Amino acid sequence: MTYLNADLHCHSVVSDGTLTPTALAHRAKANGVELWALTDHDEVGGCHEAAAAARSLGLPFLSGVEISVTFADKTVHIVGLGFDAHDPRMSQGLSQTRGGREQRAREMAEQLARVGIQGAYEGALRYVGNPDLISRTHFARFLVDSGVCHDTHDVFRRYLTEGKPGFVPHRWANLGDAVRWIRDGGGMAIVAHPARYGFTPTEEYALFTEFKQHGGQGVEVMTGSHSAQECIAYAQVAREFGLAASRGSDFHSPEESHSDLGSLPWLPGDLQPVWEALSDRIQH
Ligand code: AMP
Ligand code: MN
Ligand code: MN
Ligand code: MN
Repeated sequence: MTYLNADLHCHSVVSDGTLTPTALAHRAKANGVELWALTDHDEVGGCHEAAAAARSLGLPFLSGVEISVTFADKTVHIVGLGFDAHDPRMSQGLSQTRGGREQRAREMAEQLARVGIQGAYEGALRYVGNPDLISRTHFARFLVDSGVCHDTHDVFRRYLTEGKPGFVPHRWANLGDAVRWIRDGGGMAIVAHPARYGFTPTEEYALFTEFKQHGGQGVEVMTGSHSAQECIAYAQVAREFGLAASRGSDFHSPEESHSDLGSLPWLPGDLQPVWEALSDRIQH
C-alpha cells in the first residue's frame, strides 16, 4: 500500500496554521486524502477535535505532533505519529518544550524594535490561536499584514532566521527525549523535512545515527518543503539507514502554503511507508 494518499503533516490554529482541526479534516477529505494526521508544533491540544471530525467524515486518522528539538545547535523537527495523545509523559514533555516561547517572543519583539519595527509582540499575538504557542510564523503574519514585508518567506529571509535582527536562539527538547515521549506512547518518531536544516554531511550522518540509536524509525521523504531532487536524496537516506518513509504536505494555510493537503507525489514504490507499521494505531 505504498500508493496511499496519506497526508501525515499539517498545522491548525492550535499551533501556527490558520484553519481549525475540523476545517483541516474537511479539506483533507475533499482533496482525496485517505489517511490523515494533524501534527501541530509541540502541542496535541487539537488531536481530539481532529479525530472526531475525521471519524465523522470516514477519514482514517493518526494522532500526531511535530516536536521542536535542538541538535548540533540547530533546530530539528521530529514528527510523532500514532502515540497515545493522553500519555502524561508526552503532555509534560511538550509543556516543557513550549515553556520558553513567551520569553523568546518578547526578546524577538525587543530586537525588532531596535531596527524600527514597533509593537511586534502585541501585533503577533493578534494572530495567535493558542496563547502557549506564539511562533515565528505569527510574527511573520504581522510583518506582512503591516506592510513591512511582502510575504512570509521574505520575513524569514530578512528578519527571523539565524543572524537576522529578529532571530533569538532557543534551546528546545533533546532528540532522545522527544523520541522517547513518542515511543512511550506507542508511536513512531520521524525526522521531518530533513533537507531544511542546512546540516553538513557529517552532522546529518550524526543526526540519523543518533536518531536510530534512540529508537527513531522514519524519515519524511515526500514533504511540501522538499524539491524533487531532495525527495530523491532522502529516499536514498531512508534506504541506507533502514528508515520507513513518510509523506506530508506541512500545510499551514490556504494563503501561504505551496503544497495543499493530499497533493504530494507518491512515495517511491520500494520504500516501506510509515503507515504499514502503524496500522493498529489508525483510528477509523
Ligand atoms: P518557531 O517554532 O517559532 O521557530 O517557528 C517555526 C515555523 O516557522 C515553522 O514551522 C514554519 O511554519 C515557519 N518557517 C520557518 N522557516 C520559514 C521560511 N523560510 N518561510 C516561511 N515559514 C517558515
Ligand atoms: Mn510551522
Ligand atoms: Mn517543521
Ligand atoms: Mn510542520
